[in-house]
Amino acid sequence: PELIGRPASALWESAEQYAGLLAELGIRGHIEDREARMIRADGRPCWVQTSMTVLRLQNDTLIYAAFTDITERKRKESELHRLATTDPLTGALNRRAFNERALAEAERARRGGYAVSLVICDLDHFKAINDTYGHARGDVVLKRFTAIVQELIRPSDSLGRIGGEEFALLLPGSDADAAARVAERVRARFAAEPIEGGEPLVATASFGVAGWHPSLNLDAALQAADAALYAAKAAGRDCVRVAGVETAKIVPIASASRNGRGRLAP
Ligand code: GH3
Ligand code: MG
Ligand code: MG
Repeated sequence: PELIGRPASALWESAEQYAGLLAELGIRGHIEDREARMIRADGRPCWVQTSMTVLRLQNDTLIYAAFTDITERKRKESELHRLATTDPLTGALNRRAFNERALAEAERARRGGYAVSLVICDLDHFKAINDTYGHARGDVVLKRFTAIVQELIRPSDSLGRIGGEEFALLLPGSDADAAARVAERVRARFAAEPIEGGEPLVATASFGVAGWHPSLNLDAALQAADAALYAAKAAGRDCVRVAGVETAKIVPIASASRNGRGRLAP
């Protein structure tokens, strides 16, 4: 009874989606097992799986449609997907999901003809932080680092936890210089903010940046970023270093040496 007299379009979350389904029905005559978003009688949106068929009766055209509410299944699916792709402590992508994302982004960048950069970040003297402040506080440090990165990157960028205290950042549309500026902002912010939850503690991280031409393989780019990270560690930690992928030459970035903290100078 709640539906009588209401236009069918009012049952759909998006008028465009409904219009699209109608257009497809007009061409193909039927739709099978399609997932869509509808509005419940109480106004809440829900996921449905629907099959629809056009019926012609004398001069009338009717649409026969069957719906199953799959909201709960969708919720479980997305929870499983989250568990399978992210690291439970920090919420960053896990290593496998990061690699998959990187390969997909590389393909998109290759088609779109834009740059992609990779940054590898490794927390400094993290073993000593655990030894001094305890493993639980170490976990807080990892979460704090992740939160700062998430705040400073764009929605299209990805953060993965690729080792215990090692993270990778993928920045589509950023060349190595732009990526180095992002890394430098993360570095400065992380080093400036004391970690909450007990005795005063300031942690730092080192960063290796590599521009990645998507026609080169991901491992080569990660190795170049890793070499730059190694150079950042060797230069005293708490700094950013950039590697050219082709030349694998390590060059200090201007912003890292310009910020007035002596230990960052090359
Ligand atoms: P460096 O500056 O050269 O990177 O030194 P480091 O001490 O950070 O490097 P090392 O690889 O020796 O130590 C990494 C430490 O990270 C050792 C390991 O116990 C710790 N770690 C790895 N995963 C976790 C985690 O999930 N939680 C905590 N609290 N510690 C972790
Ligand atoms: Mg470390
Ligand atoms: Mg490490």
